[in-house]
Amino acid sequence: MKVYFDNAATTPLSDEVLQEMIPILKDQFGNPSSTHSFGRQVRSKIEIARRKVASLIHSEPSEICFTSGGTEADNMAIRCSVQDLGVTHIITSKIEHHAVLHTAEEMAKKGIHVSFVQLDSLGGVDMNHLEELLQGNEKTLVSLMHANNEVGTLISLKEVSALCRKYDALFHSDTVQTMGHYDFNLKELDLDFLTCSAHKLHGPKGVGFLYINQKLSLNPMIFGGSQERNRRGGTENVYGIVGLAKALEEALTEVDSHHDHIQGLKTYMIEQLEANIPGVDFNGDAKGESLYTVLNVSLPPSEKSEILLFSLDLMGIACSGGSACSSGSDKGSHVLNGIGSNPNRPAIRFSFSKYNTKEEVDYAVSKLKEIYFN
Ligand code: PLP
Repeated sequence: MKVYFDNAATTPLSDEVLQEMIPILKDQFGNPSSTHSFGRQVRSKIEIARRKVASLIHSEPSEICFTSGGTEADNMAIRCSVQDLGVTHIITSKIEHHAVLHTAEEMAKKGIHVSFVQLDSLGGVDMNHLEELLQGNEKTLVSLMHANNEVGTLISLKEVSALCRKYDALFHSDTVQTMGHYDFNLKELDLDFLTCSAHKLHGPKGVGFLYINQKLSLNPMIFGGSQERNRRGGTENVYGIVGLAKALEEALTEVDSHHDHIQGLKTYMIEQLEANIPGVDFNGDAKGESLYTVLNVSLPPSEKSEILLFSLDLMGIACSGGSACSSGSDKGSHVLNGIGSNPNRPAIRFSFSKYNTKEEVDYAVSKLKEIYFN
């Protein structure tokens, strides 16, 4: 049996998305910047995709800037806030994706003040500390992810946004793990930037978008042609953009049934692990405010821990690992370190999609039990 439980890393492409992309790859090859009919035909595909994405998240087409994925979108939000919007202070957290953390570190080297908000042991943001950090006089960008990709902890975008507005700070949220899994209504949610990556929602790799609030005017981070309303040079990844729009449409059209199915699998796996693996625990707020596609399992210390992922892989189970730093040379997971996880307990992240089944959960739990107790 082959089981794919690494959907937070990437998801399989949906058939419907592939079908939507094939005509562009095969026949509609024009350069969207060309003014002749070949170009115009392709340009219209991009603009249809842009309108579709915008309407799915209740925003305006001009607020959607297609990028090469989540990493570029995160970079753009942070770097352009500094470059164009006068930001001199970035507030973020130690458990952000490296696309945010390393960009913030780079900004710090250029003299930007970077602060880290305190987190609780589940990965939740200390809102009082955030408010304290916001009280300075500097122009501030808050960059906090909606759901953590390793442990699944969610923040309240509404609450963080309200605090940012109170102190006139910009707010960017990396929504790579939640876009397509929750409804977003940008008419009600007051944010400046959101990031999306298509390959996390059954779309193609190498494409995503940055939502940019229409009140903001940005110069490019990548210079070249005047694509993307002069905000990002480079010939567009047309089939990717078309695939992204289709993937987001599919995901959001069926969001409630996917939620119920996937949350059911996660709850079932928690129950099965608790019934079969004594001493099992969970990193993050697994039974509370948590992304329903991610379950981070904390296992009792064992000499088998070194070969855990390897053994699961040999048994056909794909998942991902990581533990907190256990020695000076071993960096471990910056997320588990950031929330103070016990470094002696191995951690495995199982992440689910609409294609997973209960039988797969049974298989994974039984194999994990076998590895641990045989
Ligand atoms: N942000 C988060 C939370 C992610 O999980 C990822 C992907 O792992 C990214 C950003 C980067 O996205 P991409 O792979 O499209 O560059």
